[in-house]
Amino acid sequence: MAALDAAVAAGPAWAAYPPRERGEILRRAFETMIQRTDDLALLMTLEMGKPLAESRSEIVYAAEFLRWFSEEAVRIEGRYMTSPLGNGRILTMRQPVGPCLLITPWNFPMAMATRKAAPALAAGCTLVLKPAQQTPLCTLAFAAILEECGLPAGVVNVITSSQAGATTEPLLTDQRLRKLSFTGSTEVGRLLMGQAAGGLLRLSMELGGNAPFLVFEDADLDAAVEGAVLAKMRNGGEACTAANRFHVHEAVAGDFSQRLAKRLGAIKIGRGTEPGVELGPLIDAKQRDKVAELVQDAIDRGAQPLTGGRAVQTPGYFYEPTVLGQVSEGTRLLTEEIFGPVAPVISFASEQQAIAAANSTQYGLSAYMFTSDLKRAIRVAEALETGMIGLNQGIVSNAAAPFGGIKQSGFGREGGHEGIAEYLETKYIAVNMD
Ligand code: NAP
Repeated sequence: MAALDAAVAAGPAWAAYPPRERGEILRRAFETMIQRTDDLALLMTLEMGKPLAESRSEIVYAAEFLRWFSEEAVRIEGRYMTSPLGNGRILTMRQPVGPCLLITPWNFPMAMATRKAAPALAAGCTLVLKPAQQTPLCTLAFAAILEECGLPAGVVNVITSSQAGATTEPLLTDQRLRKLSFTGSTEVGRLLMGQAAGGLLRLSMELGGNAPFLVFEDADLDAAVEGAVLAKMRNGGEACTAANRFHVHEAVAGDFSQRLAKRLGAIKIGRGTEPGVELGPLIDAKQRDKVAELVQDAIDRGAQPLTGGRAVQTPGYFYEPTVLGQVSEGTRLLTEEIFGPVAPVISFASEQQAIAAANSTQYGLSAYMFTSDLKRAIRVAEALETGMIGLNQGIVSNAAAPFGGIKQSGFGREGGHEGIAEYLETKYIAVNMD
């Protein structure tokens, strides 16, 4: 509660800070984070296991949100217009929503923190930031950078806890809190929405995913395989945007599967700090066992492992990169979020069939599509029920773009011009000119 007290106390002064100065603090934090990329990447690898090269990429990605929103801080605009009858003026202004609670997961511990905190700070909000219990250190390092770059006391308050629910529920039911932004599982997101209902909090929900990866018969197969490696293996598959299932036209499914199996089979597995390692451990034993269970279910229903298919028998939570062919309908990993380095391949015969299969999920975060036919690309993009689509590329994340989902993947957008709007309210003044 002390964290919320501090955020509430610091609120009015931070909201009144000149936008340029808010932006300059964020800009200095961007530069500091980039200068410390190697140290912060090592911290991240030691804390949650991803290979150093991936940790470095995440630090750069995380820092980009600080740079982007340092630029957005000075572009918060209102409107002026004559009322339709001509006898009045309509003025609008945009103001910070107020104290926010930001809850982040462990899989991208730095980027999920900056993706929420940077727009909140740019908008003039103060905040309480709660990292996942597996990765508090990255968030604490981020908060220390903000402090060093001149952020006033009380504007950002980090709370670490091994009892998430008991820690956040009193905050969510406190009428002084005005907004919750959550990234994590759909299940916890639903629970938090219930708790936030009493205070009618503004909400942003970045939840789970089950991304389809579509390869049409006219795709450049080399590019599709490289895109698949990226979409599947970023963060070892522990990403909400990870390609969960590969729907490939029957004319190229065999070729695609073999090539993908060859690429994934050659990936070097090991501790994130070892040179040349491309795949680290999963986050914990529970996650490794869940991946093993999903693969076993697929094999029991007739799927063929083209590479991998087992946990690695060394200490740690390693699982082999796996490609499964001949996956049948009803297999659990087609509908559940895998969160591991497993690629099930299913073939389709027509565009209609591909779209129907892609959309047959409760989730709607991201999708990927490889085709060289522009008209098809537009047609399929319009039909896909997701918030984001990678067209002939295996990655969608970009600080300058609106990131977010639909259906059970949540609502709200982070990044882009939309990102700061999540932390602003619109106030309208009716001006009498009679
Ligand atoms: P999670 O269990 O939902 O946890 C996420 C965060 O919520 C953690 O900080 C966690 O704290 C906290 N939390 C858990 N139970 C809570 C409760 N009862 N009350 C308040 N806070 C609670 O998710 P996860 O398994 O760590 O993360 C993976 C999930 O995040 C996946 O489903 C993935 O798709 C999703 N994700 C989505 C996006 C996106 O942008 N859409 C991005 C990344 C990840 P503790 O660590 O203390 O439990």
